[in-house]
Amino acid sequence: MKKIQMVDLKGQYKKIKDQVSIAMNEVLDSAAYINGPEVIKFQEELESFLGVKHVIPCANGTDALQIAMMGLGLKPGDEVITADFTFAATVEVIALLGLTPVLVDVNPDDFNIDVSAIENAITAKTKAIVPVHLFGQCANMDAVMELAEKYNLFVIEDNAQAIGATYASKDGEKKAGTIGHVASTSFFPSKNLGCYGDGGAIFTNDDELAHAIRGIVNHGMYKRYHHDVVGVNSRLDSVQAAVLRVKLRNLTQYNSARQLAADKYDAAFVNCDKITTPVRNDNHVFHQYTLKLDKSVNRDALVEYLNDNDIPCGVYYPIPLHKQKAYADERYNEKDFTVTNNLVKQVISLPMHTELDDEQIEFITTKIIEFIA
Ligand SMILES: *Cc1c(COP(=O)(O)O)cnc(C)c1O
Repeated sequence: MKKIQMVDLKGQYKKIKDQVSIAMNEVLDSAAYINGPEVIKFQEELESFLGVKHVIPCANGTDALQIAMMGLGLKPGDEVITADFTFAATVEVIALLGLTPVLVDVNPDDFNIDVSAIENAITAKTKAIVPVHLFGQCANMDAVMELAEKYNLFVIEDNAQAIGATYASKDGEKKAGTIGHVASTSFFPSKNLGCYGDGGAIFTNDDELAHAIRGIVNHGMYKRYHHDVVGVNSRLDSVQAAVLRVKLRNLTQYNSARQLAADKYDAAFVNCDKITTPVRNDNHVFHQYTLKLDKSVNRDALVEYLNDNDIPCGVYYPIPLHKQKAYADERYNEKDFTVTNNLVKQVISLPMHTELDDEQIEFITTKIIEFIA
């Protein structure tokens, strides 16, 4: 059996090595290393794949979130609501911009932001909601957009984990990241569409916002050496864009390979009443395949057992954001975070990537069932 990896980037690379080499060499020969034609082509191809008017590439997914918030003109003191159960980047940029993060609980089934908790947290200072499409599945965007309309709020989708996922909205099927006012994504190597370094992008259908954002990513410049607003330097380089163009052509197949692996995991655990397999509301693209274990199962002992058997696994996320030193706040009340407080003890993410084979899945699932029985 091939050694099991949490994410097998090498195996995936081997299959596209020739295309990647040609694409990278073209960039090296062209010497257009920053903002070259490759970046423009990638931007256009991603716009067409997503069905969104504007894709603005930038340096990473964290920058993308920050720039989206800057583009919306959010100001210190404005409150921004996001999920307690996510990667810290989301809350980090809110705090960094001097905005006030307001963390709320998530659903116990799909782990996405709890819409009723959002509504309870809205105040006169609330300006935006950041739903995170966690692990590859869309948050309840119809309900989020309805709240946003009712309270006149912006919606920024953190789409770092769900590129290519679709959402059956009341207005028809849409791609994740094209439903809110603006969205961010990350091309970190292990994401569903990853490059070979850092990368990110912002998406929007709003022409004016897109224009504002294009200046912000480039030092607040709309005309050369005229700096109209305080901006940042956040660019996707041409080599990464060339890699992303090759991988974008395979994204649908990559996501299908993840879904197929998820189907096989699901089938193996179907008779385990101590394991809840991921719920699949829409077209889940499985950035992570995350089990929820019964409270009687010692999750940390399972992690150790799997590691002893050379099976990598992950705990995303082990600490609720409202309990992190940087984001703790006396405003928070533990009774408002019962779901996240439980999930951090019950979740375990299994190896998930495009190269998993049947023998590996069989081995992983057999060991888990053996431990739990
Ligand atoms: C990966 C990730 C980010 C940050 O992306 P980087 O490119 O690493 O900066 C933001 N939000 C979520 C939910 C992520 O998973």
